[in-house]
Amino acid sequence: MKNLFLKIIKKEIKSNILFENKRVIAFYDTNPKTKGHFLVVPKTYSRNLITIKEQDLRYCFSIARKLAKKEMIKQKADGFKLVVNNEPSSNQVVFHTHIHIIPSTKLPN
Ligand code: AMP
Repeated sequence: MKNLFLKIIKKEIKSNILFENKRVIAFYDTNPKTKGHFLVVPKTYSRNLITIKEQDLRYCFSIARKLAKKEMIKQKADGFKLVVNNEPSSNQVVFHTHIHIIPSTKLPN
């Protein structure tokens, strides 16, 4: 059975895509922690960072950083948090590697 993110990759489930190429897809999280929260997902299946291939890991983080910088500007954010949950004990619920990018903004004084 396909996991949720494979269905998104195959376009069997709609998502709000901000970037896609042959190796990765990035789409906005449906339950955002902050405005502009999105996920970067490798198209090649791996469960999480414990098993992902080194080259896929490097590529995903490189894309995540580029997209995060663009999203920061779009959201007028000051920074961003980058989170990867690995296994249920860390709150992973979708078992296909994904990087959360969560824009952050300084609170007014
Ligand atoms: P994790 O807890 O790291 O496995 O995160 C899974 C994330 O996927 C959560 O932040 C969910 O809000 C998000 N999510 C679940 N379904 C969808 C969907 N159809 N489109 C976009 N994001 C989703």
